[in-house]
Amino acid sequence: MVTTKNKDDGHVGTLRTCLGCGKKDTRGELYRFAVIDARLCHDDRKILPGRGVYCCREQGCLNRLLKNTKKVKRALRRDLLDLSGIEGLTVTR
Ligand SMILES: [Zn+2]
Repeated sequence: MVTTKNKDDGHVGTLRTCLGCGKKDTRGELYRFAVIDARLCHDDRKILPGRGVYCCREQGCLNRLLKNTKKVKRALRRDLLDLSGIEGLTVTR
């Protein structure tokens, strides 16, 4: 598979992959989580800098993401990650 480096990171129409189910959706339709001081935070306004992970607005996906910390850590290239900040997050529609 050919991967092209996407420099257009902030573009609204950019497709992102949900770490829970692997589905691709536009950036605006997904939750974004970013790391602040080794802690995963919900970046609800999508303004936090650095590497982020994305997840559908589905409780099932969110739960899968929280369970699969290995995958999250790999995606963020971090060995240490505190997910407690988003553990209580519930999906609102
Ligand atoms: Zn999903």
